[in-house]
Amino acid sequence: MRNFRKMMISGLAVAAAVLMLSGTAFADGVIIAPGVTIPSHDTSSMGPGPGGPGAGTAGTDTTANVSDGQQTEQQSGQPAEQTPAVPAETQPAAEAQGPAAAGTEAQQTGEQAQAAAATDEASLIAQSLQDQYRIFPTADPNIVISRGRKIDVTKPLLALTYDDGPQTAAGNRIIDAFDKYGQRTTFFMVGDRVPSRAAEVQRMAADGHELANHTYSHTYLNKVGAETIRSQVQKCNDVIEQTTGIRPRIMRLPGGNRNDTVIANVAMPIILWNVDTRDWDHRNTAKIVDAIMGKVKSGDVVLMHELYDATAAATEIIVPQLVEQGFQLVTVSELAALKGVELAAHKIYYSF
Ligand SMILES: [Zn+2]
Repeated sequence: MRNFRKMMISGLAVAAAVLMLSGTAFADGVIIAPGVTIPSHDTSSMGPGPGGPGAGTAGTDTTANVSDGQQTEQQSGQPAEQTPAVPAETQPAAEAQGPAAAGTEAQQTGEQAQAAAATDEASLIAQSLQDQYRIFPTADPNIVISRGRKIDVTKPLLALTYDDGPQTAAGNRIIDAFDKYGQRTTFFMVGDRVPSRAAEVQRMAADGHELANHTYSHTYLNKVGAETIRSQVQKCNDVIEQTTGIRPRIMRLPGGNRNDTVIANVAMPIILWNVDTRDWDHRNTAKIVDAIMGKVKSGDVVLMHELYDATAAATEIIVPQLVEQGFQLVTVSELAALKGVELAAHKIYYSF
């Protein structure tokens, strides 16, 4: 703990005052950089909102109709190990005070300020795991705290995403791979699969990964009417919230399939992708790795599927390689926010 604390004390004395939690300093929509704000959408209303039919559909998309709906695995939910949240320092300055004869009053004050700064950073990291849609500024304009770790906004940011889960066997391997390197990912989940795999989904949330909506039954929404579209989206949000306490804020259309009725009735930001590994098709680890390594750039959104062992194996290979290359793996909501994009309902996004 002492070494950890020393690591955390890195010239952040000035940050102490900045980072003191006043209750108002980090309101929703907090500014993390000039022009960059974190949106706080209310996705509870499922009715058509601003934007209307066809809003945000510009852009070339040749990847619709992807058959990403294979759900043949028969894994039942298995208990997952809960990874504890980053512990908050609860004894500020206690070690820094030391014997009164150890230094001057000024030195003691400086040490206490450093300890306070470290304590505040640790508590912000812990708080960011609880308040997962907020990004917390630090005294360093290039560093923010989000979902339980620090992010350097000057480095490349990449969102790897996994559809069609939860699927406990591959899912826990994927979570392990991200957690091992302090990285984050996004799971677009099918609602009716969640209750029997609750422990895995709760682990995703506890570890800071993003829980996202992929409809309740993996329904191709272009094949159904407005009422079903709305219920498919809402029921998925409901079951994830009931399981974890966290309501998704983004969704992905099964197969990418849509029409004007779909766009008008999906009252959430719609996240597609700009890099397709086609893992559902070949289920080949080397091909998945090859589709990503050397081909991705900052702002990209990569499509994979949680269902396959080949995808889990590829994840175990690519996460350390991407980190070595300087990429920071972030959730889709983080990627949008850090790229200055305010996500809006009824709009489609491919990359940021
Ligand atoms: Zn799917």
